[in-house]
Amino acid sequence: MKLTYDPAAGAAFWESISRLPGYPAGLHQPIRQMLFESDALLRLSDVLDAAGARRDQPLVVVWDATPMRRAGEDLKPLIASLLAGHGWQLRTITLQSDAGGQVLASMTHVETVRAALQPGCALLSVGSGVVTDIAKHGSHLYQQETGEHIPYVVYQTANSVSAFTSNMAPLFVDGVKRTLPSRYPDALVCDLETLRDAPYEMTAAGVGDMLAPYVSLPDWYLAHQLGMDSTYTPLAERLLGDIGGLYLAEAQGIRRGQLESVALLAKTIALGGLAMSLSHATTPLSGFEHVMSHLIDLQNELLQRPLAAHGSQVALATVIGARLYRHFLDAFDPAELNIEQCYPPAHTMEQVVRSSFAAVDPSGKAGAECWADYRKKLEAWHTHRADLENALRNWHALRGELEKRTCAPQQLLGILEAVGAPLRWDALNPPCSEDQVRFAFFNAALMRKRLTIGDVIIFFGWDRGALWDQVKA
Ligand SMILES: [Zn+2]
Repeated sequence: MKLTYDPAAGAAFWESISRLPGYPAGLHQPIRQMLFESDALLRLSDVLDAAGARRDQPLVVVWDATPMRRAGEDLKPLIASLLAGHGWQLRTITLQSDAGGQVLASMTHVETVRAALQPGCALLSVGSGVVTDIAKHGSHLYQQETGEHIPYVVYQTANSVSAFTSNMAPLFVDGVKRTLPSRYPDALVCDLETLRDAPYEMTAAGVGDMLAPYVSLPDWYLAHQLGMDSTYTPLAERLLGDIGGLYLAEAQGIRRGQLESVALLAKTIALGGLAMSLSHATTPLSGFEHVMSHLIDLQNELLQRPLAAHGSQVALATVIGARLYRHFLDAFDPAELNIEQCYPPAHTMEQVVRSSFAAVDPSGKAGAECWADYRKKLEAWHTHRADLENALRNWHALRGELEKRTCAPQQLLGILEAVGAPLRWDALNPPCSEDQVRFAFFNAALMRKRLTIGDVIIFFGWDRGALWDQVKA
């Protein structure tokens, strides 16, 4: 299948997407080069040159300790020797695993990267989402501090998450995952052999992460219509197009590691990162399903347990979100809504938020962090009552718009099955218990200020226990 907007097309790509409604005025090619090629590895040195890196200055290389294979060779030593052979002065930083055995997206690691940067240097990250986010944010902080823009090239090692082309970084702040404004890389290198040889679990997760829009886009549209988000534009949905149909058509190729399919997946993942960045928020790709996933991460993080592949966890939360939409769109009748009861007072909700999070974090830190964010949403919800009344009057039209943006849960499961992604929570690695998922479903809305379908069912007074029985299957 072909993409409407192909990020490999360079200037022509930027030219065509700059005409889409919602493209930021005056923004010119924020990422100068994106390669999706067989043997792109061999062009890495040229890409660094083009990004403005200098061979007589240090090239800071950030990666983790995980061994990676590419066409039968050790990837990291291969990159190091190739670059050294081209005269680059490498300074490698190997990020060490945290308590759960993985490198977490923490400010401690970000600080390590920032401290290694110096005037005139350049930065290369070699890794998947977390390593990229850490490196990206380290150079962003350096730039904020010094005013110096460090040339930064991303070498993507897996088709795993939509982090590589974004100018934001999801990081743990006081134990809670928050997305911080960050920077774009100057170039993205997708070497197809590297992506093909990544653990397949990560590739399947990449497809899963990109199914999130079937919940996050209706969430965004809903929030916009309820006066809770003024940032909505159609840019993201136009950019992504029929992504589910594309994955279904490419599923066999993705599974077999055919380079054309690997490239197509990498391109859609790049589009996902751009869809968020150009919309100035993660909102187009992060709604109820991502907050559920963040809450599962939070529980595992507090227990110092390893995290499952982000996208596969998100995909299963997306299926739950799509079931929730299905149920809501079928059953909601505005005539039966008692609008007076849709506005709980702040002290009631503060109690709810703090006590809910005390169940997983008795220190109260997570609860305080979540309430600080949630209270802003609650205030806005009260302020925008007229928007809700208006939406209810026009429910039929709004319902149609939401319907257009979501997708049948069965169709999502069909895509996951076709690419060989986990279909059940206990099939994740490590498995996720029903209690953890239930906690995430019940409390996702209480975690942050962005309005999702999860908030609407709370404000409308729906019985979440009964809903959980409907959507968990
Ligand atoms: Zn994600």
